[in-house]
Amino acid sequence: GAKALGRGAWCFYEEGMTQGARERLAVEAGLRRALANGELRLYYQPQVSVASGRIVGAEALLRWQDPQEGLVSPARFIPVAESSGLIAPIGQWVLLEACLQAQRWRSAGLGSMTMAVNVSPRQFALSDLVAVVGDALAQSGFPATSLELEITESALAERPEQALALLTKLGDLGLRLSVDDFGTGYSSLAHIKRFPIDVLKIDQSFIREIPESGEDMAISSAIIAMGHSLGLAVLAEGVETPAQLDFLRQRGCDSYQGYLRSRPVPPDAFEVLLRDQLAG
Ligand code: C2E
Ligand code: MG
Ligand code: MG
Ligand code: MG
Repeated sequence: GAKALGRGAWCFYEEGMTQGARERLAVEAGLRRALANGELRLYYQPQVSVASGRIVGAEALLRWQDPQEGLVSPARFIPVAESSGLIAPIGQWVLLEACLQAQRWRSAGLGSMTMAVNVSPRQFALSDLVAVVGDALAQSGFPATSLELEITESALAERPEQALALLTKLGDLGLRLSVDDFGTGYSSLAHIKRFPIDVLKIDQSFIREIPESGEDMAISSAIIAMGHSLGLAVLAEGVETPAQLDFLRQRGCDSYQGYLRSRPVPPDAFEVLLRDQLAG
């Protein structure tokens, strides 16, 4: 069977293998090829100050430029990358590429923004993240204090002791840490108190129905107030309308991301946004 052949070998589908399992194997084989052939890309989405309207950061978002299928979204391949362990080399590539790009923009005088990189829970378990981050910073020359790692609540909840030890070491490097998709995981409040977190990212599901949903306005207001009283910055994800931005401004939210300002874009298009800002 495929298993006996080992990783990296050609896979022969076993009889009786489910359609889902075949698809996973195909995606996994494709991902190995993508990594080897340089088919992975980073897109960048601006993080914008609510008060000034200026771009203060970027989030790096992974894409797979498949020669046959075109641009593949991370929702389709991150889960396979995680279960196969490929997330470790992929995550290492993402960290280095994001730091190299951010440092190129700094050197070109395009601003001193932060670069935010998503880190998956399995990357914690599989690789020495402190070493991987240290290498990316050393190779790129990008300052640790401008790099932000985005970690989901579930990663904090799954193995809190390991996560605390790791995040403390990363924080000691000078990095910023943010909690992604905040409000959708468990034990948020207990973890927020214990972990060396700098930023809460309000999940886009709480922003989407503002201003129609009174509940979502109440939840978002509460997250902003709680974050601020704990000394954290708060960013709102998925901001699509001027009404949503007005609401966030009234509540004193620090920054936002969303289609209202820009979709995630390739590096050359992001650079145009930075140059326009410099000119304007
Ligand atoms: P995330 O980190 O929460 O990223 C935000 C997602 O919301 C992105 O989807 C972005 O394109 C989308 N988005 C941004 N603004 C809006 C908006 O106004 N409206 C709507 N409807 N969506 C908006 P994307 O790029 O498809 O990424 C999905 C998820 O995949 C990410 O969620 C993150 O969890 C994961 N991901 C992406 N890149 C990486 C990576 O390099 N490593 C890891 N481990 N995970 C990644
Ligand atoms: Mg994120
Ligand atoms: Mg810190
Ligand atoms: Mg999110």
